Amino acid sequence: MNTVLIVGGSGFLGQHLIQKFHELSPRPEIHVFDIRPVQPVSQTFFSYDTEKDIVFHQGDLTNRDDVLRAIDAAKPDAIVTCASPVHGLGKAIYEKVNVQGNKVLLEATRQRFDESKGKIGRAFIYTSSASAVSDGSPLINADETFPVLDDHKDDYADTKAVAEKMILGANDPESGFLTVALRPAGIFGPGDRQMIPGFLDAAATGKQNFQLGNDDNLFDYTYVGNVAYSHVLAAEKLLDSKHAANVAGEAFFITNGTPIYF
Ligand code: NAD
Repeated sequence: MNTVLIVGGSGFLGQHLIQKFHELSPRPEIHVFDIRPVQPVSQTFFSYDTEKDIVFHQGDLTNRDDVLRAIDAAKPDAIVTCASPVHGLGKAIYEKVNVQGNKVLLEATRQRFDESKGKIGRAFIYTSSASAVSDGSPLINADETFPVLDDHKDDYADTKAVAEKMILGANDPESGFLTVALRPAGIFGPGDRQMIPGFLDAAATGKQNFQLGNDDNLFDYTYVGNVAYSHVLAAEKLLDSKHAANVAGEAFFITNGTPIYF
């Protein structure tokens, strides 16, 4: 891997993606595209220097000019897209960023892939979500044979699933334009802006004083460093002609090793 472009790289997972790509030897050139700059939460967990070790491109995923500017500057062989609005917002913003934004990125990448005769954007890795297969009812021992649903329990999951189908549908082994989707469930670890802060808020505001059901539901949580590393592995496999066929066009749940439960 010569160069990776991490779209959404200033976020919680994005910063750990930078770290995991930074740890590779030989180290690829790392470019980050995001609407906001990278501000690492703590140097304890990140050894990269935002000034020296990454090239930052500020822009909006839904803006084709911004996206092309970053792709043309980076000329990446691998593109990882983990950009998404945070949980709990309205349908319009999820539709705009997760579906339309990733469509802009996918089409711009394919265009540059064709023009460069396959040198740019050979490996396209999408951070999906385990919620792609969930409508809110119990899922036990779910694996990748479970179908991606059209209706989920919220708009976020709807749009993550639509984007996943679009990106996997663009996989084109004949030309060498290869895509993969990675599906974590809950992600925890340093820099988390949503999950643990959400739990603490629920506890502080008394929302846990109510119980629905018999309290035996399980959920899957994975350490952010492991989720990030799965993206590095996916990029390496897509770029390796010996292994690419086992990965390209596929979706993979990312867990700490236990089956997915909802
Ligand atoms: P995050 O909000 O911390 O990071 C997302 C990044 O995307 C942010 O830096 C944000 O600025 C950027 N972004 C948003 N809209 C953009 C736009 N229009 N243009 C450019 N950049 C934009 O979120 P996260 O928790 O790191 O999640 C990363 C990915 O993992 C997301 O795709 C999310 O759907 C997926 N995911 C997260 C969890 C979780 O528990 N955090 C679970 C499953 C899947």
